[in-house]
Amino acid sequence: MASAARERLVVVGGDAAGMSAASQARRLRDPAELEIVAFERGHFTSYSACGIPYWVGGQVAGPQDLIARTPEEHRTRGIDLRMRTEVVELDLAGSRVRSRDLDSGSESWTDYDKLVLATGARPVRPRLPGIGAHGVHGIQTLDDGSRLMTTLERAGGPGRAQGRRAVVVGAGYIGVEMAEALVRRDYEVTVLHRGEQPMSTLDPDMGGLVHSAMNHMGIRTVAGAEVTKILTDDEGRARAVATAAGEEYPADVVVLGIGVEPRTALARAAGLPLGPSGGLLTDLSMRVRGQENIWSGGDCVEVLDLVAGRTRHIPLGTHANKHGQVIGAGVGGGYATFPGVVGTAVSKVCDLEIARTGLREKDALDAGLRFVTATITSTNTAGYYPGAQEMTVKMLAERRTGRLLGVQIVGGAGAAKRVDVAAVALTAGMTVDQVVSLDLGYAPPFSPVWDPVLVAARRAVTAVRAAGA
Ligand SMILES: Cc1cc2nc3c(=O)[nH]c(=O)nc-3n(C[C@H](O)[C@H](O)[C@H](O)COP(=O)(O)OP(=O)(O)OC[C@H]3O[C@@H](n4cnc5c(N)ncnc54)[C@H](O)[C@@H]3O)c2cc1C
Repeated sequence: MASAARERLVVVGGDAAGMSAASQARRLRDPAELEIVAFERGHFTSYSACGIPYWVGGQVAGPQDLIARTPEEHRTRGIDLRMRTEVVELDLAGSRVRSRDLDSGSESWTDYDKLVLATGARPVRPRLPGIGAHGVHGIQTLDDGSRLMTTLERAGGPGRAQGRRAVVVGAGYIGVEMAEALVRRDYEVTVLHRGEQPMSTLDPDMGGLVHSAMNHMGIRTVAGAEVTKILTDDEGRARAVATAAGEEYPADVVVLGIGVEPRTALARAAGLPLGPSGGLLTDLSMRVRGQENIWSGGDCVEVLDLVAGRTRHIPLGTHANKHGQVIGAGVGGGYATFPGVVGTAVSKVCDLEIARTGLREKDALDAGLRFVTATITSTNTAGYYPGAQEMTVKMLAERRTGRLLGVQIVGGAGAAKRVDVAAVALTAGMTVDQVVSLDLGYAPPFSPVWDPVLVAARRAVTAVRAAGA
């Protein structure tokens, strides 16, 4: 144990959740009361993994632009941040963690009074022949981004005729964003995905719009593809991706975008409670269930889905930062809670903005809900305004009650942030009738006189009435 007068907080994981928690705790309690030791196994801390596709795509100059706070800045603020140091064991009975310096290999134990687990997630890596080959990259941390950039730089600069083919496995938002980034670097990109359409976070009808946009920018997409093997050359480098259909897709670089799983091996070994996804289970103050002195947040936990009424693993930076604030408040002796999420997420491919909140049709069915859907296509500005772009809105509403259940928006400028209106309506438990009456802003450069969200809500009201009980 740390000395009785001065408590010690140990944080495992030095990015969004972990360092937000450490920084908030430091704001609330000074070093004389609370010593803070944070462990980060990588070379970077407090970085934006969300910015990696824009670094790879060349819109952001380098990793330094993605770093919000350096280790030195944290240390100046009174956080003892130990970089390149991995926590390899939690001893809950002894209130201590075992860590390993990844450069020297030396190990030591550190006692704690309070512990924060913020170990994030790791890209899913299916056990396939060749998956460990050079040139096969999962993307989760800034270190992963650096490794990918090294592979890309080996493959040569834009304009080189050979050696510039990329295969992206998976077409979730990370796969789609990475595919666009690689096209920007002049790669010939093929995206192999299992589903009917890319962006499985959308219903397939809306994913079809993403598919068209990807094809339009030269990305080849292969639906229903089951990857079986990564083929390698004599030097052990990836050279092609093979599928169950017997096809081979040549690749100088392979990017895995098939989702992430909570990085909770340490927590599992220590017997901490995990949900079906393998994410840690916490209460609303982000305290690990059944543990007085252990908190957890970010990509390693499950969060409460307020619409589906159950916990799920939804790994997003927006949640991780909020979790960190809540944890820091709790550790610092204050009080804060994270009530849950409605499943809002936005991304883009080329100029097409992609947004969702709440439930897809599949989620609503899984939750046992009876629902209607309404899909409309309108424009992002008044139709006559120069540069008006299409916007498609799909809305799910509960039968009988008309309660809004979910919204997906795909289209031109303004589609992504328009979903925030729907997220607020979902959080407030509004019906589609109430959404129709929302006093949303209008002027020709920003929306038609009836905003696309309101048009979809009107259509949903009609569908609810037509469906009856
Ligand atoms: C390409 C990409 C794009 C994204 N875009 C978006 C977006 O647009 N919007 C959005 O909301 N989210 C986005 N995300 C998700 C977002 O980056 C994550 O949700 C967020 O980083 C999670 O923060 P975290 O602190 O929980 O975990 P992480 O950021 O993964 O940090 C965990 C840290 O813990 C360290 N660590 C793990 N185990 C140990 C250990 N045993 N000892 C010491 N250190 C350890 C890791 O090295 C890592 O640095 C994106 C992610 C990626 C990869």
